[in-house]
Amino acid sequence: MIQSNIDLRPYNTFGVSVTARYFVDIQTPDQFSKLMQDPIFQNTANKLFLGGGSNLLLTQDFDGLVIHNSIDTMRIISLDGDTMKVMVGGGVIRHDFVMRAAERSRRGAENLALIPGTVGAAPVQNIGAYGVEVKDVITSVKGFDLTTRDIRALNPIECHFGYRDSVFKHELKDKFFITHVTFQLSKNPSPRLEYKGLEDLQSKAWLTPMDVAQRVIEVRQSKLPDRHEIGTAGSFFRNPTISQSEYEKLLGEYGDLVWREIHDGPNGLNGWKRPNSYKLSAAQLIELAGYPRGTRVGDAGNYDHHALVLVNHGSATGAEVWSFAQDIIRAVKEKFGVVLEAEVNVV
Ligand SMILES: Cc1cc2nc3c(=O)[nH]c(=O)nc-3n(C[C@H](O)[C@H](O)[C@H](O)COP(=O)(O)OP(=O)(O)OC[C@H]3O[C@@H](n4cnc5c(N)ncnc54)[C@H](O)[C@@H]3O)c2cc1C
Repeated sequence: MIQSNIDLRPYNTFGVSVTARYFVDIQTPDQFSKLMQDPIFQNTANKLFLGGGSNLLLTQDFDGLVIHNSIDTMRIISLDGDTMKVMVGGGVIRHDFVMRAAERSRRGAENLALIPGTVGAAPVQNIGAYGVEVKDVITSVKGFDLTTRDIRALNPIECHFGYRDSVFKHELKDKFFITHVTFQLSKNPSPRLEYKGLEDLQSKAWLTPMDVAQRVIEVRQSKLPDRHEIGTAGSFFRNPTISQSEYEKLLGEYGDLVWREIHDGPNGLNGWKRPNSYKLSAAQLIELAGYPRGTRVGDAGNYDHHALVLVNHGSATGAEVWSFAQDIIRAVKEKFGVVLEAEVNVV
């Protein structure tokens, strides 16, 4: 069942070609249990869990074991009044799940339509779009803990979800293979429509989750590259968060910067909340630092319509894309003193 020397080009949306020393496709949790007994598994320290490869930049051959998730199941586990809990296999294409829920008039996940990748990878970076993060609809994440070799389920608090972040990027990085995610969906309308491109739907008297999903698809298709035509992993960097004092200094110098207040702290007097940090637009910083949309170095570059989206125009290697990304990090740091962090997993 374990294969050797596999080209990972078909398994990553940047479309870069690197070789994995070992590769295995997992279709059931049982297969994963058996895999744990295999000497190759036990003697290979380097392991990479792989879903759709849409949040990965592979910069070199992988001298280890790639474990590809193809667990493809969907099961309703409870129906209680207006809410439904559904347990979905980690290898299910997330967009398929979102659309199936919308078809059945179940609400909660429709704003996440068309985000590439698998259900199993969704909690890893707490994917989000159009005002919704996947944590809003997750009730549990189940998988194999490689340290204890047990199957266990984590509740949302144990997942430590944050902005494009979770425990699976830190303490449990490469140590917890997600087999299933349980979602809670509702029949009650509470659509999130405050984002640009969706606001006009607010005036509709009756709106189905499918209406919202279709609009999200239209907006995404108009803005983002089609990953079947151009190599990409979507937004490459997180939008950086800076402190109050950094914000005051920067805004003094660059009055045009786009920013958003973050209120993580407790309410003050009369419920007034003082912002404790500020989120900047990484795309704007990148453009102002000398990397406007459509910049290109060889076949690596950023997308014509969005500076935050790095692309492979054809034959760039992962190392070339990463070198382009590092040039951007340096330029932004030099101009604004802000350090951009990759949202994409660089391997
Ligand atoms: C065109 C485009 C648009 C995008 N838009 C968005 C967006 O709007 N919002 C957003 O949040 N993201 C977006 N992304 C990023 C990406 O789609 C998400 O991060 C997605 O969740 C990645 O899923 P995947 O299955 O491809 O994960 P992979 O790239 O295969 O893996 C991502 C990470 O998760 C780990 N992982 C994968 N499967 C498992 C598992 N079963 N158990 C444990 N760890 C695992 C991997 O080791 C890796 O660290 C976009 C990407 C593209 C290409």
